[in-house]
Amino acid sequence: MKLEIVTIGTELLLGYTLDSNGAELGRALAAAGVEVVRRTSVPDRREAIRAAVAEALERTGFVISTGGLGPTRDDLTKTVVAELFGRTLVLDDALLAALEARFKRMGRWPMPPANRSQAEVPEGATVLPNPAGTAPGLWLEDSGGRVAVLLPGVPREMRGLVLDEVLPRLALRSGTSRRVVRSRTVRTTGVPESALAERVDPIEDSLAPLTLAYLPSVFGVDLRLTAWDLEPEDADARLAAAARQVARLVGEHYYGDDDSDLAAVVLQALRQQRHRLGVAESCTGGMVAERITNVPGASDTFIGGVVAYADVIKTAALKVPLEVIEAHGAVSEETVRAMAEGAQRLFAVDCSIAVTGVAGPSGGTSDKPVGTVWLAARVHTDSRAVRRVFPGDRDEIRRRAAQAALDLLRRLLAPA
Ligand code: ATP
Ligand code: MG
Repeated sequence: MKLEIVTIGTELLLGYTLDSNGAELGRALAAAGVEVVRRTSVPDRREAIRAAVAEALERTGFVISTGGLGPTRDDLTKTVVAELFGRTLVLDDALLAALEARFKRMGRWPMPPANRSQAEVPEGATVLPNPAGTAPGLWLEDSGGRVAVLLPGVPREMRGLVLDEVLPRLALRSGTSRRVVRSRTVRTTGVPESALAERVDPIEDSLAPLTLAYLPSVFGVDLRLTAWDLEPEDADARLAAAARQVARLVGEHYYGDDDSDLAAVVLQALRQQRHRLGVAESCTGGMVAERITNVPGASDTFIGGVVAYADVIKTAALKVPLEVIEAHGAVSEETVRAMAEGAQRLFAVDCSIAVTGVAGPSGGTSDKPVGTVWLAARVHTDSRAVRRVFPGDRDEIRRRAAQAALDLLRRLLAPA
């Protein structure tokens, strides 16, 4: 089954709001075996909405829209689509009662007159209840079998309606076909795409009918395997086998599946080996600690961190010898190793991570260009330090450095 998505909202075109609804719908529909063949974003303007919905119906006969269902003047979707289907708007008494009850419950009584319009629905439309908000979803179908499903723009409300109302109805329509589109991701970090490709290339043809995509981000390169239009059991079995095979080839660069988080992976390894962790950060300014403390239950393993931004903190808190900084610089192997040792001592822990680098945009030199970061990890007296030069802007360099620091410890903790 094929359909098109139209996301409605001037803010989407101005770039103030990312079209997360479109992305989320794409994922949810693909997982249900529905192919999204086109996605269009239009501003809150009558002609634009009308044209986008009409064209989508023309092509596929099925469109899902989000946004523009609210009570304000710029919320036009319902009116425009009703016109397109040749329906008038009629007051739905049950909906009005529910809406009024909601406003009373929230202590906003009397209900503003503008909200009354939200109880009007195109004649013959199915109302999709939206317990999280005031605008219900609407399902319109004409005698030719063409369908328009209108969903609210608020992402949380849209999500609830998709799960509770839209997907079950789509499953009913698609009848006996149980085919799905499903993906699995093999996550890697600390290795360039080209090096991964060299390892995975030899089996890539044999993965068919699954497809393989390389998806680089600041976290590393994700290898996404996708099964298209297969029975669910077949898709799952093929994906599991292929993911195992790819992970084996990727070897030491592989750290987890799907949405697993490197910080959680590291914490788990530390916990299993009964270690406790402290961190010392300069250019990442606490990002490593943030990544770690973002994981529920981190407190049994993570003791603390110090943001040693100025050299005086490196020497005072971490006992990095001033001579080391003077001789080699704050961004150097000697300094980062001394920082890691200092963190171990300061927090009385057996494991530590340290980061020092040049995040830019200024401060780079020819031998330490912007993006140069020294990372260290220590487990007892065993330590490792690496120099990396990260691409990107300040934010990206810092996020890449935090991920690489976690990865260095992951590798140090891995069984030899
Ligand atoms: P409401 O009843 O709240 O008025 P609505 O259907 O009119 O709902 P909008 O006013 O278009 O929805 O948008 C509500 C909120 O949802 C806004 O904050 C908007 O930025 C956000 N939003 C709208 N469309 C999208 C989208 N495609 N992706 C992500 N967020 C969106
Ligand atoms: Mg809007």
